[in-house]
Amino acid sequence: MTSPGTAALGPGDPGYDEARSGVQRSYLHRPSALVRAEGVADVRRAVRYAARHGLEVAVQATGHGLNVPTEGGVLIETSRMAHVRVDPVTRTAWAAAGTRWEQVIEAAWEHGLAPLSGSSPDVGVVGYTLSGGVGLLSRAFGCAADHVLRVDLVTADGEPRSLTPGDDLFWAVRGGGGNFGVVTGLEFALFPVDRLYAGGLYFDTPHLPAVLRAYREWTATVPDTMSSSIGLIPMPDVPGVPPPLRGRHLAHVRIAYLGTAESGERLVAPLRALGPRLVDTLGEMPFTASGTIHNEPKQPRNFYCANAMLGEFGEALPDAVLDLVGPGRGVFAVVQFNHLGAALAKRPEVENAVSHRGASHALRVVTLPQGPGRDPAHEVAQGVTRAAAPWTLGRSPNFVQGDERAYEQARECYEPAVFERLAALKAVHDPGNMFRCNVNIPPAGRQAYKLSMSTKCE
Ligand SMILES: Cc1cc2nc3c(=O)[nH]c(=O)nc-3n(C[C@H](O)[C@H](O)[C@H](O)COP(=O)(O)OP(=O)(O)OC[C@H]3O[C@@H](n4cnc5c(N)ncnc54)[C@H](O)[C@@H]3O)c2cc1C
Repeated sequence: MTSPGTAALGPGDPGYDEARSGVQRSYLHRPSALVRAEGVADVRRAVRYAARHGLEVAVQATGHGLNVPTEGGVLIETSRMAHVRVDPVTRTAWAAAGTRWEQVIEAAWEHGLAPLSGSSPDVGVVGYTLSGGVGLLSRAFGCAADHVLRVDLVTADGEPRSLTPGDDLFWAVRGGGGNFGVVTGLEFALFPVDRLYAGGLYFDTPHLPAVLRAYREWTATVPDTMSSSIGLIPMPDVPGVPPPLRGRHLAHVRIAYLGTAESGERLVAPLRALGPRLVDTLGEMPFTASGTIHNEPKQPRNFYCANAMLGEFGEALPDAVLDLVGPGRGVFAVVQFNHLGAALAKRPEVENAVSHRGASHALRVVTLPQGPGRDPAHEVAQGVTRAAAPWTLGRSPNFVQGDERAYEQARECYEPAVFERLAALKAVHDPGNMFRCNVNIPPAGRQAYKLSMSTKCE
């Protein structure tokens, strides 16, 4: 095979720069061949071409999770494979590789159903699910990977496989990320949810420390049907940010509750009692409005995210975080604590590779580097996760974002026995580590993939 396909683009071709650019802009993939896949045949051709030429393969749907860019390999860009089918009778959906959550949410809502999507409907279904996927309904139902029913995968030999329970790779891909091949489609369960009691409470800067400490205690008191997170967000003082929030260091509590508005109001009353809110959007909403709960930015940007899965939200942690990146510290960092536990702590009927189920909270710290390579913004974020070390069980692969050294974190994303099993399966199914542009699990017996950091400047 001499060509990765008729639709393949190379550096300098019209459309190459647009097609390799996703949400993450700290750096970009620099493939020697970029395939805008329209179906399984394109994916197979691209993988067989890479195998024949000894090239690495990277996959991109949206770029929300870009960490290790390809340098000279084959990039399979899947945004043209954006199709979803909902079966209201079996309460399942099938989504192709490039589908975003908003498409599934809209299609499922027509039937009074909802997927286990996360804070942003813009995120890709496949990337999110392969690395676990902790969503707005996850304390009630578990993570997205727990409810996958079938995985359509093209493996390193270019062959298509349909994975179902009982297959070793079915265990591995549900949690093991993009390490085992290119997923062309996923079938997964939907849940009978069409409305939520949900929204956000925005507290002003003087209240932020008390709200953070109180949120920590509040999460210990709520039922499994209550999912929430808190974001500590320094809002820029620029036109475009609404006046009450502009220039303020906010405590933003996000709520997604599966219950009546009356019981929801009762559950959040202790939070509302903490002080006046600059904005209070809590109320009943259709699941199709779930993206407004976190209200995350959509535009492409440079961002870096460090994370920690916490066995416990330590009593001393709020003050440690505030000392480092709280109001008045003069550093930019968005800190987020997600409440986990409940259904997330239970192993699914069909086991998978998702680890750290004992985590009570996830800590994420997002900072804004200037560009590629090491940047002071990385140190700010890592300083916060270091402060959380006494309570840290490991990392979440989904929140290793904008981090070219993602391969260094792979071990921490899995429990040791899970990591060993993933590495053993990798040695069987991808012994040449073709799929290494990710939170990489090296084949058993091989060194972790090393990147040359000096080649990252655009
Ligand atoms: C604003 C924002 C909000 C988020 N909210 C949540 C949340 O609530 N819960 C949560 O769990 N995560 C969340 N995430 C993390 C997100 O789930 C990961 O970044 C995920 O990797 C994004 O997938 P993607 O396809 O959109 O991104 P991409 O960058 O396109 O893909 C990320 C990686 O997934 C793998 N991949 C993608 N498609 C395929 C495929 N077809 N076959 C094989 N591998 C593939 C590849 O390794 C790729 O590098 C959020 C991220 C952002 C930026």
